[in-house]
Amino acid sequence: MLGSLKAILKTTTVDEVVRCHPMPGTADAKDESSVDDSAYSQSYTRHLERRLRALETEKQILQAERSRLEKETQTLRTELEKLRQSPLITATITEMLEDGRAIVKSSTGPNFVVHVASSIPKDKLQPGALVALNQRSFAITQELPPSRDPIIRAMEIEEAPNVSYQDIGGLLDQLREIRETVELPLLKPELFEQVGIEPPKGVLLTGKPGTGKTLCARAVAHETNATFIRVIGSELVQKFIGEGARLVREIFMLAKEKAPAIIFVDELDAVGSHRLDIATSGDREVQRTLMQLLSELDGFESRGQVAVLGATNRPDILDPALLRPGRFDRIIEFPLPDDASRREIFKIHIRGMNIDSAVDFNQLLSATQGRTGADIKTMCTEAGMFAIRDNRTCVTQEDFRKAISKVQERGLGDHAPSSIYC
Ligand code: ATP
Repeated sequence: MLGSLKAILKTTTVDEVVRCHPMPGTADAKDESSVDDSAYSQSYTRHLERRLRALETEKQILQAERSRLEKETQTLRTELEKLRQSPLITATITEMLEDGRAIVKSSTGPNFVVHVASSIPKDKLQPGALVALNQRSFAITQELPPSRDPIIRAMEIEEAPNVSYQDIGGLLDQLREIRETVELPLLKPELFEQVGIEPPKGVLLTGKPGTGKTLCARAVAHETNATFIRVIGSELVQKFIGEGARLVREIFMLAKEKAPAIIFVDELDAVGSHRLDIATSGDREVQRTLMQLLSELDGFESRGQVAVLGATNRPDILDPALLRPGRFDRIIEFPLPDDASRREIFKIHIRGMNIDSAVDFNQLLSATQGRTGADIKTMCTEAGMFAIRDNRTCVTQEDFRKAISKVQERGLGDHAPSSIYC
């Protein structure tokens, strides 16, 4: 500041001398010098004011920068603290004692009697709750959210699927039965109470692959606004002892949480086949999973708004225990679609397609005898692909002919791998 003042003084003095050359000691010279002085001090004051404003702005910028850096340091310190902290041990509460302590089973194995940190509300600590223990004192320091197996999280869960009854061709009797046994108990449970009967506990859908079992289950979930939980039976077969049974338990817990819900167990035969007398340890694990499934179906605890649907291509190998009344007591068979049903299925799958008006559907129907709904869907997609390959936007009879023979060549018919086993 002082430096700039001196510089200005210096410049101004030289300028004045050069510009005016007043004779020293004369009145003129005095007047002129007083005018120059006041002009100079005014301009100098303005200059100082400008400089002050600039410095104040600079100060504000620096203050903002400083508080930003302080925040960043704080965040980094907290992060560092977190990284330095020793890990906590997970444990499950088995019992709450009257003196406020708890008996826990730690994930490392042994059981401990531990104190509870006063910051945790006591009412949240129920037997079965998951908690974190301090590594040294084993005191409960945190209450954790209930654990859920990663497989369950990855399971196919749809909140009300987007398939409706209008998307199903034929299968009128099957749909009526499913609606009676699944839709009514979910939508009008009071009807069953008034009549004084219990709704069927489980419904088993049987039939060749691609006959629309999953489709119907999803459509019911859509119509009842229920969460659709699809489990593949083979995924319930786990490597470690007790894992499969735990999965089944957790799936039913999840369904209760998301109720109304429909649990759809596809490939039920993977866990539900005949139990043998001579069994390997692997077989015994599958049996344990099956027993858990049976006990969930029996409804040791009330299942509430949860319906269970199973599907299999091999009802003949299912364990009779699964089929006894009170478990999968309704069996609905899905046949191959007849002419009328195939016409309906074709109509559904060509709904959005650009079809040549000359396409003869009677011919298509006779060429697709013995095919499933899934085959017909594939044929329609293939016909569309043939049109695209020829640079056309309209699908012709010839495209359908080629598509049908392509699907037949692929062995989706009588020689399909699935039909070898059915
Ligand atoms: P899997 O036993 O292999 O699980 P699935 O019987 O469950 O077979 P879906 O998955 O329901 O067979 O059917 C496959 C596809 O076939 C459906 O997504 C649907 O597009 C079509 N499909 C099957 N049946 C019908 C039908 N009756 N109406 C309309 N589309 C159908």
